[in-house]
Amino acid sequence: MDFTVSEKTQIMLDMMNEFVDKELIPLEAEYLSNGSEGMEDALREKQQMVRDMELWAPLHPKDIGGMGLKLMDSALVFEAIARTPLGLFVFGCQAPDAGNIEILHEYATPEQKEKFLVPLVAGKIRSCFSMTEVDLPGSNPVMMDTTAVKDGDDYVINGHKWFTSAADGAAFAILMAVTNPDEAPHKQASMIIVPTDTPGFNIVRNVSMMGHAGKGYGTHAEILYQSCRVPRANVLGPEGDGFVIAQKRLGPGRIHHCMRWVGISKRCLDMMCKRAAERPIAPGEVLASKQIIQMWIAECASEIHASKLMVLHAAWMIQNVGVKETRKEIAFIKYYVANVMMKVIDRAIQVHGALGMTDDTILSFYYRTERASRIYDGPDEAHKAAVARRILRDYL
Ligand SMILES: Cc1cc2nc3c(=O)[nH]c(=O)nc-3n(C[C@H](O)[C@H](O)[C@H](O)COP(=O)(O)OP(=O)(O)OC[C@H]3O[C@@H](n4cnc5c(N)ncnc54)[C@H](O)[C@@H]3O)c2cc1C
Repeated sequence: MDFTVSEKTQIMLDMMNEFVDKELIPLEAEYLSNGSEGMEDALREKQQMVRDMELWAPLHPKDIGGMGLKLMDSALVFEAIARTPLGLFVFGCQAPDAGNIEILHEYATPEQKEKFLVPLVAGKIRSCFSMTEVDLPGSNPVMMDTTAVKDGDDYVINGHKWFTSAADGAAFAILMAVTNPDEAPHKQASMIIVPTDTPGFNIVRNVSMMGHAGKGYGTHAEILYQSCRVPRANVLGPEGDGFVIAQKRLGPGRIHHCMRWVGISKRCLDMMCKRAAERPIAPGEVLASKQIIQMWIAECASEIHASKLMVLHAAWMIQNVGVKETRKEIAFIKYYVANVMMKVIDRAIQVHGALGMTDDTILSFYYRTERASRIYDGPDEAHKAAVARRILRDYL
């Protein structure tokens, strides 16, 4: 197992880190006050700078305009550019588009690629992924009420989804719906591309999350599919293979989520240390002189380091052994790294005192938005149950 970072990769990471510090972090104050609305021009300008540096879409294959990085290198990229919430968008690799690009690249027909994949990779349109339902457990999505019934050359879709992230302003959704109700549960659903201007694709609302409903990219929509009719040619991959394709989307996707959390954790630890070193706490004494703060810093630093190594190990296994063989390690990082990140954010807020609660720093934004990391892509408990099942196999 070799985690050596090549010279070429290190140069790329240095360029990205410098860009994040100089060009993106200064834009955060406006983003924290008003969201991404009104910042489109500024963000497009930064995207163009990234393209000019030939750093656009690091995860995506070269044949569709990306950099074609291998998983371990792209994991390191996420650590660097996720130190700001603007990074992934500006570098052309934000969720849910990144996962959608991956499956479109693998499963789309030439016509689907032309219409949906090409403009998506180029950053000209956005997309969303619509699987979770209001009335059934997202943790066990084989329980699904949304149907796509064949009618001539079309599917007619009916269903009630929510937490379809970034649906507001997206050009199309990749929808999971039951097309083959008589098959075994894991073979019933298909992925279908639904342009969002199709009659019957109705956004009910952007769900308000911890006091923020938002607008545009950073939102989570409730959607009613009401007799929504799309051509059968819009099915993605073989009919009935929805869950097989969803699994493919999740493996490498979790590496990127988890390295994004490592990036966020590092940023928060950095802020914690700076604040502790500067904040007077008694005459001639700064907060960093207190042993409890030193303990927090040491614990956070070692847990972030462990997180990073665990993610790189899982990425190495996916790259060298395969996704299927890495299931346990992927589950490990999903709950371990999310919980480390939440602990680091919480401690960073504590060290900042009242300032940590304000929107004058990024910490309260992270506290609010990143709590979901322990729920989406499978909650902690589901992953822990899966890990325990695998371990106990040898004992029961
Ligand atoms: C910010 C955010 C963004 C999201 N984006 C998307 C998106 O773009 N597209 C999309 O389709 N979905 C999205 N989701 C939905 C997400 O995937 C689901 O919320 C997740 O799968 C959990 O499903 P649920 O909310 O229905 O919870 P449930 O399945 O109802 O589970 C509730 C709780 O039960 C417990 N639990 C679950 N399984 C087990 C188990 N095996 N053992 C013990 N306890 C268990 C856990 O504590 C869990 O939190 C998003 C969610 C959030 C919060």
